[in-house]
Amino acid sequence: MSDHFMIIIPMDPFAKPSEERCQAALDRLCELRTGYEPELEFFDKPEFIWAAESAGGVFCPFCAADIESWFFEELRYREERGQQDLVITTPCCARSTSFNDLDFEDRQGFACVTMEINCRGADLEPFEREEIEAVLGVPVRVIWRHL
Ligand SMILES: [Zn+2]
Repeated sequence: MSDHFMIIIPMDPFAKPSEERCQAALDRLCELRTGYEPELEFFDKPEFIWAAESAGGVFCPFCAADIESWFFEELRYREERGQQDLVITTPCCARSTSFNDLDFEDRQGFACVTMEINCRGADLEPFEREEIEAVLGVPVRVIWRHL
C-alpha cells in the first residue's frame, strides 16, 4: 500500500498568507476531499516541496535539457550556504530564471507554507482550486506526493 498526499502551496514561493487563512484553506480542502491527517506547515524560507523519490525529471524551461542531477546538487549547495533567493542561471543555456520556474515533470515547487492531506481523491477541479485560492488569498499550485 502506498500513501498519497495532496499538498497545496502558494504559486509564489515567497508568499506567506496568515496562519488563519492557511487553516481556513486547509479546512475547505478537507470539505472538498475525504482525507485524513490534515497538516499545516510553515517555513522561514522557500523549501523545495517534492512529489516523491521517484518523481519525474527536471528540465530547462528554455532549451528542455535534462538538468535533474544539476538541480539536486545546486539545491544541496544552497541549503549548505543558507541561500534564500531562488535566482539561478541554467547550466545548459546560461539563462536567468527562478528555481521555482523550472520544468518539473511531476508538479513540484518551492513554498513557505504547505497545506497537506493524506487522501486518494481526484485532483482539484479548476473551480475547487479557485475556492481554495479565494480563502487563502493567493493563487496556488497543487502537488501530489506518492510514497
Ligand atoms: Zn537550457
